[in-house]
Amino acid sequence: MSDLLPQLASLVGERHVVSGETLRDRPQDFWNNVPTPARALVKPGTTSEVSAVLALCNGNGIAVIPEGGRTNLSQATRSDERSILLSLERLDDIETPDEAGLTVVVGAGVVIQTLQERCAASGLRFGLDFGARGSAMIGGALSTNAGGFQALRYGVTRDMVLGLECVLADGTVLSHLIPFRKDNTGYDLKQLFIGSEGTLGVITRATLRLHPAPVTRNTALLSFADFTAVARTLSRLRRDLRGTLSSFEIMWPEFFDFNVEALYGERRPIGSGASFYCLCEAEGFEPDSDGALFEDVISAALGAGDVADAVIAQSSRQRDELWKIREDFEAEQNFFNVMIDFDISLPLKVMDKFVAEVDAALKSEIPASLGLHVLGHLGDGNLHVTTGLPTPEHASSLKDLVYGLIARYQGSISAEHGIGILKRDYLHHSRSPAEIETMRTLKRALDPRNTLNPGKVI
Ligand SMILES: Cc1cc2nc3c(=O)[nH]c(=O)nc-3n(C[C@H](O)[C@H](O)[C@H](O)COP(=O)(O)OP(=O)(O)OC[C@H]3O[C@@H](n4cnc5c(N)ncnc54)[C@H](O)[C@@H]3O)c2cc1C
Repeated sequence: MSDLLPQLASLVGERHVVSGETLRDRPQDFWNNVPTPARALVKPGTTSEVSAVLALCNGNGIAVIPEGGRTNLSQATRSDERSILLSLERLDDIETPDEAGLTVVVGAGVVIQTLQERCAASGLRFGLDFGARGSAMIGGALSTNAGGFQALRYGVTRDMVLGLECVLADGTVLSHLIPFRKDNTGYDLKQLFIGSEGTLGVITRATLRLHPAPVTRNTALLSFADFTAVARTLSRLRRDLRGTLSSFEIMWPEFFDFNVEALYGERRPIGSGASFYCLCEAEGFEPDSDGALFEDVISAALGAGDVADAVIAQSSRQRDELWKIREDFEAEQNFFNVMIDFDISLPLKVMDKFVAEVDAALKSEIPASLGLHVLGHLGDGNLHVTTGLPTPEHASSLKDLVYGLIARYQGSISAEHGIGILKRDYLHHSRSPAEIETMRTLKRALDPRNTLNPGKVI
């Protein structure tokens, strides 16, 4: 269809259509510095424009790839020379938050950090937070059902959505932007679009849940000799910190020591030689007593012999330095030449055994692998297991090996990053043939011409 670009321009305005030629200068996504192949990138400014663009493309059998901040880790926004990229970045308005109802209505193009800051200015908290907060957008986070650092306290993205507006492949607009939790009026359609990676509809707007913003924050780095003590301490903190625990991030020593060395050299924040390190944070509402309570609970865990050593951050600068160990992956990316990352969920009680088994299997069956870095959101049962290879040669057998082990432990092959293209061939390790066939039935029902983000997820 040679006159597609002028037609798109007539729908959204000429300056909001970027040609395929110009896109060749743009990296494909956060992780791939290769040019973006596409016919064009279109930036609608309203839901009606999104609807018109989708109807036009669907009518002509042209694939549309929705995109937000392009920070996904599953090749979920990959395009080809024939497809149209649909950026939601111009749908970036934030309505005034409802302070009593604890809700806010936002466009899909709002950047996570912008929303966090807007809510904080009103004494409110939007409970989603992760490393890509400065680029990832609400539409992308909803479409991947992102998790992050505070899922322990506020849940995953799915738990934060009250109402949704989205557009189907043929341009039909479904709008149900309700501001309340209780709504048993038939099928909960929004759940189909949350976590479906842009394959069933394009999210344009959402009503999100908010919380009162805590006023205190206490952070500690803890070290442990064994995993049982880590699990006991998580339970203790959940119970004794009176519901204020917001993060509990675990790091196995191979990753922790590597990143401490890369970031701070000899200046270690805590003694060496432990079997596990955990970063925990509590956020509360009692300025006069939260600090003392936090110290008391950590002291009790030290006294009980569960925590081997503890450092409590004395300033926001020290807190940021501790979090950098958990959040900074630059050195790791350089070290693992061909980096292979597994984002998995497992029952907490088998995690340690699983990691030991992966480690042993890699050493014996893939000797070229360059080590094993493990960290994760322990409170949510979510681990990030990363390894690397000098060349891609053994990548596929390495993945088969680890995904096979995840399946044997009955874990999830994608805790929070989604399936995209990268994990599509491994979906059967976590979902049954009947479930995958039901997903296909849904896709066919909502997008019979297969024009919305084709080839992703299933
Ligand atoms: C440093 C770093 C740290 C990260 N940490 C975490 C973490 O802790 N937890 C976590 O869950 N993820 C994490 N991620 C992954 C990533 O940031 C999330 O998946 C994020 O939610 C993607 O948002 P995005 O706007 O970049 O979406 P994109 O990457 O642009 O798109 C993601 C998917 O959503 C679809 N999509 C985008 N917008 C829409 C829309 N409006 N309607 C329909 N479909 C749409 C796309 O087609 C694609 O399938 C991290 C990424 C990085 C780079």
